[in-house]
Amino acid sequence: MKISNHSVVSFHYTLSNNEGEVIDSSKGHDAFTYLQGGQMIVPGLEAQMEGKAKGDKFKAVVEPGQGYGEFDIQLLQKIPLASFGGQQVEVGMQFQAGEHHVVTVKEVTANEVLIDGNHPLAGVTLNFDVEVTDVREATTDEIAHGHVHGPGGHHR
Ligand code: ZN
Repeated sequence: MKISNHSVVSFHYTLSNNEGEVIDSSKGHDAFTYLQGGQMIVPGLEAQMEGKAKGDKFKAVVEPGQGYGEFDIQLLQKIPLASFGGQQVEVGMQFQAGEHHVVTVKEVTANEVLIDGNHPLAGVTLNFDVEVTDVREATTDEIAHGHVHGPGGHHR
């Protein structure tokens, strides 16, 4: 069967940037399993999954606007070092800010910290090498819940 809305899809992938550096890969892990139409993968990849079938191998290029978003300079913010309450702050540290938001420390000076609220892959063109390893229809429960149950899923 071909991938369409409400398919449960398993795939292996390697994700690289335009410089050819590998950012992420499922190699050595289980295939990634998701519900098509459930917005569990970036929109540009989900769109290019449509119509593919088990065994298909393809490359998908996803521009930032259809991936993790454009880099937004407004999300760079300087905050006083004092607001960290004496905690050691280093470049590369990440903090949870709100429920789904992570900020990264970009720079630390004597009394200020530059934080970046962009997704680490904001502004990056995503080059996926995809191999579809399984496609099945979602159960009514999976469609109602908007996620996959069973192996590869993460039901709570
Ligand atoms: Zn569920």
